[in-house]
Amino acid sequence: MLHTDSYLHQGRRSLLVQELIRKGITDSTVLNAIGKIPRHFFLDPVFERQAYEDRAFPIGEDQTISHPFTVAKQSELLLLEPGLKVLEIGTGSGYQAAVLAEIGVELHTIERHKPLTQAAAKVLGKMGYQMHYYVGDGSMGLPAQAPYDRIIVTCGAPFPPEPLVEQLKPNGILVIPIGDGNEQEMFRITKKASGITTEGFGKFAFVPLIGQHGWKN
Ligand code: SAM
Repeated sequence: MLHTDSYLHQGRRSLLVQELIRKGITDSTVLNAIGKIPRHFFLDPVFERQAYEDRAFPIGEDQTISHPFTVAKQSELLLLEPGLKVLEIGTGSGYQAAVLAEIGVELHTIERHKPLTQAAAKVLGKMGYQMHYYVGDGSMGLPAQAPYDRIIVTCGAPFPPEPLVEQLKPNGILVIPIGDGNEQEMFRITKKASGITTEGFGKFAFVPLIGQHGWKN
């Protein structure tokens, strides 16, 4: 992993922010976080030159870091405020976690591949981000720390896992991609006193959510 953030990296990052604005991202706290966080720190050095392209890259264990647009869109859909208690399913590289932590939420992040958690915790720790890491099946949520103001699922689920909806606070929000194969629809599910509301936000591509309330391995 690389640990220098040169003017070249910063320049490429500000071009990425401009690209995200052109693609429809408007939340300034999300754009500021993406403009600040060196994405190349989360990638194998072989991808350094492409780190600020709107692309996914392999991160080991057959998994990927999400496209910056996907990270920005999911973050925006969460309607975040500093201090909210957030659960992330799928720590992966740790890049999405860095964006959430930069916005100032209390973050709990769970990943099923321990080596990914270890690598993410190392880089996030060096960058000074504080959060709580767990290794396990996030399709069950994380009942020990529930309830949550927000839950973000960064892998594709066959349906909204019931435990995740249960572990939301009243007015809590779950952002989750749902669908099979290589394409999912992004949903924002809000738990209101009057019932659950569901809004759709277009097509995305994720690796699968594997687990008891996800796809079978
Ligand atoms: N947020 C990540 C990032 O910024 O790099 C995205 C990583 S990738 C698109 C999704 C991750 O979800 C993978 O690392 C995968 O191992 C993880 N995953 C899949 N099923 C899971 C489950 N049931 N519990 C926890 N993590 C899971």
